[in-house]
Amino acid sequence: MEQEKIKIIFPDITGVHREVEIFLHNKPESIYGLKAGVDGSSLPGYSRVENGDLILKPASGKLVDLRRYGNGLLAIGALYQFNGERHCLDTRLKAEEAQKYLSEQGLEALVGFELEFFMLEKIRHYLDSRKQLLHAQPLDNTSLTRQGVGKYFTSINSRVYEVLREITITLTQAGIVPFKIHRENGVLNQYEISFHPTSLLEACDNVILSIKTIREISRAKKLTAVFMPKPFPDDYGNGLHLHLSLWVGARNILFEDEGLSQEGRYFIGGILQHARSLVAFTNPSLNSYKRLSPGFEAPVHIAWGYGNRTTMVRVPRNGDSIEIRNPDASMNPYLGISAIVLAGLDGLRKKIDPGDGVELNLHEKQLPVNIETLPLSLKEALEELLSDHEYLKPVFTRSFIEKYVELKMREVVAERSIPSVLEYQLLEHIS
Ligand code: GLU
Ligand code: MG
Ligand code: MG
Repeated sequence: MEQEKIKIIFPDITGVHREVEIFLHNKPESIYGLKAGVDGSSLPGYSRVENGDLILKPASGKLVDLRRYGNGLLAIGALYQFNGERHCLDTRLKAEEAQKYLSEQGLEALVGFELEFFMLEKIRHYLDSRKQLLHAQPLDNTSLTRQGVGKYFTSINSRVYEVLREITITLTQAGIVPFKIHRENGVLNQYEISFHPTSLLEACDNVILSIKTIREISRAKKLTAVFMPKPFPDDYGNGLHLHLSLWVGARNILFEDEGLSQEGRYFIGGILQHARSLVAFTNPSLNSYKRLSPGFEAPVHIAWGYGNRTTMVRVPRNGDSIEIRNPDASMNPYLGISAIVLAGLDGLRKKIDPGDGVELNLHEKQLPVNIETLPLSLKEALEELLSDHEYLKPVFTRSFIEKYVELKMREVVAERSIPSVLEYQLLEHIS
């Protein structure tokens, strides 16, 4: 008989999802009390090989039941040192602290998130350096010939539709509740699932649990769900948009009858002012910056607007939350979402007015010259983070930020010596 098992999952500081599976001899009444030893020296920057023992414990009571899909239960984990203290690079701790910081000021942030991903049939990475591109088999040929009209396209592939249905049922049963699902713009079967807002910490847990759930159920059905920010050249990328509201009791202080309140403007002002450093947490991969290019509804400029999908912050016309459009699924949500909220709070405290909303299509060729752009690369973003992190101080220590930059810079350095597909194409005559 197959044993009951529970997978404890956590993102490391660089954003990589890690997991340990524990076999349960008796189905536990409660998952609290479970723990697993972890080799911290094999996690980037966590501990030394001569003294590396850490402990992983379930961090929240939320469980996703994946037993129908050849898996066990899924839980979020937190990392402890052997003396029982939380490990300083346990990233969930940052979101716990950010939430506490908010509540000390009588505030509560509600966070909804939207997951975009491609659903692919066959996928493989060519290993030879000339063809490193992701090779994918589209599930639905109509979408290939209908570039640009894919969004909300009604002829949803029935096989994908069935998988999406199972995903939403499984997540809802776990208390991670989607409210909208639709086909996205991407040519190769892109989809989006939007989730009801929750507390900051719960939203971070839910991002990790739902990405894992979508990947696992898709895999069990012989599909691959791809969340990478920009998996294909010349196609839409995958965003992880966030919808934020900020509450004092029963009052959402970002809005008033007519739209944004003055506090809402200040909150956006803080996010825009710190945008160039913030993206080091919300867009933390080399690939992230390939998505942030014009023409694909991903932001390039540091601006806000009502109903504008070319700005970094969109204020939905019918909404009561602001949409932050730059984040992607390569972020560690505990770091990225906390950093966004801290930037907004800095705006509130310093009364940073963001100016008028932008009504232009910022992706059009004739760009207004006076609007600053987001960094063009991970390197640029990390350098910005080193020079602008005072606003993160309530939660992030200087040493945490320096460690983060040091670890992520390794990716920048690694890329320098790897030729890209484009370089081979441009130099085909001599390669
Ligand atoms: N896929 C786009 C992105 O990369 C967003 C499309 C939308 O507005 O939902 O952010
Ligand atoms: Mg979308
Ligand atoms: Mg959106």
